[in-house]
Amino acid sequence: MMEKNGNIFSKSLDQKIIKNKNMAKLLEIVKHPNEILRKVSREISLEEIKKPEFIELMKDMEKTMIEKDGAGLAAPQIGKNIRLIVLNHEGKNIIMINPQITKKSWAKKIELEGCLSVVDDQGEIYYEKVARHKKVSCMYFDKEGNKKKIEAENLLSRAIQHEIDHLDGILFIDKIEGKSN
Ligand SMILES: [Zn+2]
Repeated sequence: MMEKNGNIFSKSLDQKIIKNKNMAKLLEIVKHPNEILRKVSREISLEEIKKPEFIELMKDMEKTMIEKDGAGLAAPQIGKNIRLIVLNHEGKNIIMINPQITKKSWAKKIELEGCLSVVDDQGEIYYEKVARHKKVSCMYFDKEGNKKKIEAENLLSRAIQHEIDHLDGILFIDKIEGKSN
């Protein structure tokens, strides 16, 4: 997800993949329309988490999110239909494996939202108003496979809902206020 304020536009739009064994790679962002973004992603097994490829993928996703100034990134956005998201919360990365919303507030809030995968004809990210639950509780596994629970509100709550939607093949443009859903 993209935050409206601050450095909203990506510094560089070229999707160059940097290859270096010791460094996290910048991954290419899958852009809408693409069927990868519309699939329901599969759950990740706890054995899978320990594999070097998976550890590398998590690092690459963190790097990609930071480089692109995203507030979050979901695995389908980098071409993998697995239930993995990374979030940037107040400068700290949160990795969530198989995240699940267990509780949500009745109250919703409408705010502008953008997505690294949804760009206009010029390749620029754009923003639309989307209603999201103000607060959510989310259960997930961390990168070590520990079961965790988080209670989130405001931007973090919004980002969690936006990124989990990606795992279910849903984009924020499906939920724009004023459009019938
Ligand atoms: Zn997104």
